[in-house]
Amino acid sequence: MAKWSRRNFITAFTSGLFGMGLTKTMRADSIKLNNRVETKDIKIKKYNILGKTGLKVSDVSCGAISFFEPNVMRYAFDLGINYFDTAEGYMNTNSERYIGQALSGIRDKVIITTKHGYSSRTKITRQNIINRMENSLKRMKTDYVDIALVHGINDLKLLHNEELVSAYSKLKKDGKIRFTGFSTHNAPVTLKQALDSDFTQVVLVIYSHMQNEIEPLLEQVKKKGIGVIAMKIFAGGKHGNLKSFIGRETSYPQAAIRWVLSNSNIDTCITTMSSYSHVEEYVAASGLSFDRADLNVLAKYRHLVDDQYCRVGCEECLNACPNNVPINDVLRYSMYFEDYKMEKEAIRYYAEIDDQIKPYLCVSCDGICSDACPYGLKVRENLIHANEILSA
Ligand code: SF4
Ligand code: SF4
Repeated sequence: MAKWSRRNFITAFTSGLFGMGLTKTMRADSIKLNNRVETKDIKIKKYNILGKTGLKVSDVSCGAISFFEPNVMRYAFDLGINYFDTAEGYMNTNSERYIGQALSGIRDKVIITTKHGYSSRTKITRQNIINRMENSLKRMKTDYVDIALVHGINDLKLLHNEELVSAYSKLKKDGKIRFTGFSTHNAPVTLKQALDSDFTQVVLVIYSHMQNEIEPLLEQVKKKGIGVIAMKIFAGGKHGNLKSFIGRETSYPQAAIRWVLSNSNIDTCITTMSSYSHVEEYVAASGLSFDRADLNVLAKYRHLVDDQYCRVGCEECLNACPNNVPINDVLRYSMYFEDYKMEKEAIRYYAEIDDQIKPYLCVSCDGICSDACPYGLKVRENLIHANEILSA
């Protein structure tokens, strides 16, 4: 899709011009009809260079946040996917184990990223970090990981911690990791900081047709040679629970993938593939341009979920709550439970929230947080519901 029409698409969305059809600013000659792919032709069609790492990655990639069959992941490889993302914390370390099983025998043909989080409760010592990385390698049955990301940071101060810097340097020197970087839910801040960070060779950021305010920063980061990977590209993934998207409009994920990849500053995007049909559906979006049919599907999705999707990483309403409820985290876990179908994981994450700040008091509160949400979410009602489903 030509650049000007992509820009008009975003403007139309944000200005509310977009209803269920095309905006008047969209010229017909910029629109190509949807490409259809025969099942036998489903294959990754495009590989991009991941910044200065020089790694050649499939434009559509595989994330392993929730349960998956190793055979399904292997099928993704057979169809051309070569980039696989996991984390120590996914599925209580089991994701790394499954990655090891799935990619056994083809280690030299794939690129693996794993991530380690360092919360305020984590003891950060050089040896502890090295031990954790070595345990990850053992679980993945590999001697090295291509990319090691510091997981989920909101600020890059942590990357100046001497113990941490020394541990990752040692791991690099010993050939146990090749490249470093971070994942973040706070890209408007961290990407700016990344421009001055030698540690940052790769970033993993939230980017979708409904969350794209970081575009100017992506351009700068890309110019610096940092590899850029997009996550949360399905903007809440609510299509599976929307009647009008079940069966008839199965191309929502493809439209969302093509939208993300139409930005040349994105090198690859990770998707969770929990079945063979997911693999085929997502891989079929590879290498194809964003088109008119995609545009309509995304417009429809946005129309249906705009006031239901709690934007991951958003903190706009947090100060409104007198009881310090971590509204964004609770609603994210609720999304994991209902939309991503990661019930066990969601319950486990929710259980880790301190009882003092769980949304127990919402039932007797006037819900001032709802007024603070610029997207019109019924925050109080959503929190009460979240507490019900997550308190197993
Ligand atoms: S409804 Fe819940 S989250 Fe909202 S202000 Fe009240 S206590 Fe806080
Ligand atoms: S409820 Fe609204 S304001 Fe609060 S975190 Fe979610 S999207 Fe942001």
